[in-house]
Amino acid sequence: MTERIYLSSPHMSDEGYEMQYVKEAFETNWIAPLGENVNQFEKELAEKVGSKAALALSSGTAAMHLALKAAGVGEGDIVFCQSLTFAATSNPIIYQHAIPVFIDSDPETWNMSPEALEKAFEKYPNVKAVIVVHLYGLSADMDKILEICRRHNVPIIEDAAESLGAYYKGKHTGTFGDYGIFSFNGNKIITTSGGGMLVSNHVDKIEKARFWSTQSRDQARHYQHSELGYNYRMSNVLAGIGRGQLKVLDDRVAKKKYIFEFYKRELGGLDGIEFMPIHEWNEPNYWLSAIQLTGDIRPIDLIEALEKENIESRPVWKPMHLQPYYEKYDYIHLGTDVAAKLFENGVCLPSDTKMTDEDLKRVCGTIKELWKKR
Ligand SMILES: *Cc1c(COP(=O)(O)O)cnc(C)c1O
Repeated sequence: MTERIYLSSPHMSDEGYEMQYVKEAFETNWIAPLGENVNQFEKELAEKVGSKAALALSSGTAAMHLALKAAGVGEGDIVFCQSLTFAATSNPIIYQHAIPVFIDSDPETWNMSPEALEKAFEKYPNVKAVIVVHLYGLSADMDKILEICRRHNVPIIEDAAESLGAYYKGKHTGTFGDYGIFSFNGNKIITTSGGGMLVSNHVDKIEKARFWSTQSRDQARHYQHSELGYNYRMSNVLAGIGRGQLKVLDDRVAKKKYIFEFYKRELGGLDGIEFMPIHEWNEPNYWLSAIQLTGDIRPIDLIEALEKENIESRPVWKPMHLQPYYEKYDYIHLGTDVAAKLFENGVCLPSDTKMTDEDLKRVCGTIKELWKKR
């Protein structure tokens, strides 16, 4: 059997940076709680993305939860949320007992449609927060979205879980809005096996979130709590992995871009394949190479043909407004459901940074074979 090709698997540095930091944690017995790796990982990530403050957490989902709380979202509040995303974006809205209203995507960016957002504000003038996602490391149209949200005086939370290393007009994604969240889950561009980060220029809000993330312990000799708390902090061991991974982020982005361009060159000529949109104002991190199939070969045909060759691929995210759990909530679009179409036609090709040219040729060969057999 040929070796399996993965969609996106953990890729530690050749230099062993991660082990070095983890070893330091062991040697100083700073296994838990917190410690120097956590402090430095926060500092290094904040510097990398250009944010004033950062908070290392147990997951991207935890970061989203605390971002919503920091933005003042509570029971009965309305939150506008991009529909085309992973459930981790919207689940924390429910944790806060708030009400999501889902917003369609723009076919030009695959992310939140500024026009649909504008339309949503007409229907729901009282909105507590807007969550925009930078899917697959592409960026949303931030200038337009920021202008609309500022005009309505509503805070923006950017879900940059998939877009670490991706820039919009030279500025890092996740640093435009009031809050940004990142994920270091196992399949993300860099990983700590599991983890997340909340970033913001509102330093006081990050301090408040830090308090909530450690069970909201008041300053007192005894255990005293005047607010509800959570156990959301990242461990010092995992932060060590994160520090090492951050050193190779640029290399990972370069390889992801190489993979995308390889596919584009090899498969661009096949009829009915369209690649995710790349604009001159966007420097993506190319986390996953995603395509649209507009001809008679359907995503399931491609995914199954690749699976037969022991190659992992995946459909594009199924939008939240189509999820059984979320279908009772409102969905704002401009007549055609763009998110549904992106889902129906979408495939994420293997984008594992450990792939060799031989592996890439194996993927492309399998796909070309499918087109020939048609
Ligand atoms: C991975 C991901 C998250 C959540 O991250 P976890 O660290 O797995 O909790 C949130 N949003 C999007 C779009 C993601 O892809």
